[in-house]
Amino acid sequence: MAEDFVIPPPPRADAAVAGTSARFPVRRIFCVALNYADHAREMGKEATPDEPFFFAKPADALVADGAAIPYPPQTGDFHHEIELVAALRDGGLNIPAERALDCVYGYAAGIDLTRRDLQAAARAIGRPWDMSKGFDLSAPLGAIRPAADIGHPARGRIALSVNGATRQQGDLSDMIHPVAGIVAALSRYVALAPGDLIFTGTPAGVGPLRPGDHVEGVVEGVGTVSLTIKKDD
Ligand code: MN
Repeated sequence: MAEDFVIPPPPRADAAVAGTSARFPVRRIFCVALNYADHAREMGKEATPDEPFFFAKPADALVADGAAIPYPPQTGDFHHEIELVAALRDGGLNIPAERALDCVYGYAAGIDLTRRDLQAAARAIGRPWDMSKGFDLSAPLGAIRPAADIGHPARGRIALSVNGATRQQGDLSDMIHPVAGIVAALSRYVALAPGDLIFTGTPAGVGPLRPGDHVEGVVEGVGTVSLTIKKDD
C-alpha cells in the first residue's frame, strides 16, 4: 500500500481542451459579480467600476459540456448566467495588469448557475453567497481553447438561448473589468495559481430554468457550452 490517506483521496477536477485528449487540471473556481452594467441594472445594483467583487465555487462543481443535470434542491428560481471563463497557466500575488494575460492558458464558455432566491435572501440579511452560487453541478464549462490559438478575446458576441429562444446577449467589450484587470485585482486578494478558473461575469437577460430545458451558450471566437435540465422523474 503506497497510499498514505485515511480515506481514498477524491478525484481532481479537470476540464476538456479543444483539439486534444489532454485535460486541464482545475485547482479553484473564482467568479466576478456584476461585471456588465446592464446585468447590474437588472439586479437592481450598481456596477463596481473601481474594484471587481469576487466569489467562488468548489472545483468539483464543474459540469462537462453537453451534460444533463437534475434541477437542484433548495430553490424555485434556478438561473443561467453565460460567461467568458479564463483558465490560468501561471499565477502569483500582485500580478501587474500589463503581465496578467501572460498567466492565461486559454478561454472557454461557461455558465454560472445560480439559486437566485437563495442569493436574494442572503443579500437581504448580509449573509454569504456560498449556497446560492457554490453548489453541486453549478459550473458547466465548454472546452477550453488555448490563447496560443485564439488570442485574448476582448470583443465578440456572448449569448445564451433556452429551448432555441435567445435569453442573454451582449458583447465582451461591455465588460466593466476586462480579463487583465480581473486577474490583476484578484491577485491582490489571493495568490493565483496554475489550474485556477475565473468566470468573468454575465450580460443582462438572466432568468429561470425549468426541468426539461435545453440551454446553449456561445462566446464568439471562444466556443460553446450546452446543458440540459433533466425532467422530473
Ligand atoms: Mn455570474
